[in-house]
Amino acid sequence: MKLKVGDQVKITLGKDRGKTGKIEAVLPKKNSVVVPGVNLYKKHVKKQGDKAGQMVELPRPLTLAKIALICPHCHQPTRIGYKMDKKNKVRICKKCGKNL
Ligand SMILES: [Zn+2]
Repeated sequence: MKLKVGDQVKITLGKDRGKTGKIEAVLPKKNSVVVPGVNLYKKHVKKQGDKAGQMVELPRPLTLAKIALICPHCHQPTRIGYKMDKKNKVRICKKCGKNL
């Protein structure tokens, strides 16, 4: 996974196209991430005991194809590159070249 929790992303496809948010969870097996408040769907919660039933909105995971990372340095949607920094592989912005 190139993206990690806390990355700022922009949604590029789908009904929430144009929205931005911070990644809250990464699901490597599904190649997806969860961004709060984006790609919401309504879920009915049934009445339980004396708690009334209600509708809750939950964010659904977004596949990586639908999002772009926003670089914290140049503030543009960008792609992620990698370079070796001593022994560590570091992520870099392909637009401005700074470490992400
Ligand atoms: Zn950049």
